[in-house]
Amino acid sequence: MIKIHKKISIFGSTGSIGSNSLEVIDNLSKNGYDIDVVYLTTNSRIDLLAAQIKKYSPRGILILDKKAFSDFNLNYNFKELEILSGCEGLLELSRRTDYDLLINALVGFSGLMPTVEALKSGKDVAIANKESLVVAGKIINELTSKNGTNLFPIDSEHSAILQCLIGEKKQSVSRVILTASGGPLYNKSAEEIKNTSVENALAHPNWKMGQKITIDSATMMNKGLEIIEAKWLFDLNTNQIDVLVHPQSIIHSMVEFIDGSLKAQLGMPDMKIPIQYSLTYPDRVFSNYSTIDFKKLKPLTFEEPDLDKFKCLRIAYDVLKEGGTFPVVMNAANEVAVDLFLKRKINFHEISEIIETQLNKHTNKQEYNLADIVQIDTITRNNILNEPINTYK
Ligand code: NAD
Ligand code: MG
Repeated sequence: MIKIHKKISIFGSTGSIGSNSLEVIDNLSKNGYDIDVVYLTTNSRIDLLAAQIKKYSPRGILILDKKAFSDFNLNYNFKELEILSGCEGLLELSRRTDYDLLINALVGFSGLMPTVEALKSGKDVAIANKESLVVAGKIINELTSKNGTNLFPIDSEHSAILQCLIGEKKQSVSRVILTASGGPLYNKSAEEIKNTSVENALAHPNWKMGQKITIDSATMMNKGLEIIEAKWLFDLNTNQIDVLVHPQSIIHSMVEFIDGSLKAQLGMPDMKIPIQYSLTYPDRVFSNYSTIDFKKLKPLTFEEPDLDKFKCLRIAYDVLKEGGTFPVVMNAANEVAVDLFLKRKINFHEISEIIETQLNKHTNKQEYNLADIVQIDTITRNNILNEPINTYK
């Protein structure tokens, strides 16, 4: 049997990646691996969390939301279960040393400090929370080298790139090509996209994911976040990262080498495959997840992304080139704008406008620390929320 981490915690266990991670643990258990699920966390989905507690008997749980925390205490009584709440509790669990791998399946900036604290306390991190890397990739890389810890990507494109890079030298790589499904709006006209409804933006053709990343796919900011994620994970120059729209989501990404050869990683669109790989890397363990039947596949097609229709991807390319603290502003503005869109307070096209406005206001800094990142994130959010929303109309 191959050696894999035995004690695992999942932050954001009730979300899309979190639930898929528990299914992966089920598969590993079926294959004879004895894995302890040590801590599970949710924002507020206490019903699903309770079902997970019954099945996996974790040592402790965290419920971020205070009201959900008191509802949980009123409605459930699990023996010998430690119950924590709030951001401080989340940080405390991140620092504990009674588990050896954290699956960070939190959404947004809230995933940053748990990534940092888990790495500082010597644990490995399987990372779905791409926003951590977007805002603090440089600091996270410094931490992994200082502490000798590992970061295993869960994002399907980055898992694909990791698999293509095995056995290759850094100087052999000419570029990486991240594939993008194009999201639910790819074939719509610029006019239709401009005022698309929340329902249409949430109707992703290939992947069932949390709401924030689904809207990010519709604006293509998801690919924008991923080009920055790729830069930090694989130490790439900005001109080595390309995006290609591939609506079938069968090729998860590719690496082109200096001799003209190209490697791609393929699979059905099922996040359990990259999640499992993040836990078994560089080995593999048997699974029954769906495999490709080439005879039944639709033709695989490829297109240049349309940066006029998908302004968020153009913005992210500029931000990737500029570097510094711009990614922090872009990420914070995007999170607030997506939330406002989901609450039907702004129109779809205003997401990119809000991000641009905030970037224009910001003086970029190439030297920054973690405290600067937290401060810039807060300032950006406050800037947007303190302005009357109809300034964007
Ligand atoms: P989701 O919304 O389904 O789940 C998020 C989880 O985090 C939930 O358990 C929720 O309770 C918890 N949570 C939400 N807000 C929180 C907060 N402020 N503090 C603490 N916990 C909080 O999201 P998801 O789709 O699973 O995505 C998680 C991360 O994985 C994101 O960074 C996303 O970009 C990335 N990702 C997701 C997919 C996918 O298929 N869903 C694929 C690639 C990468
Ligand atoms: Mg992805």
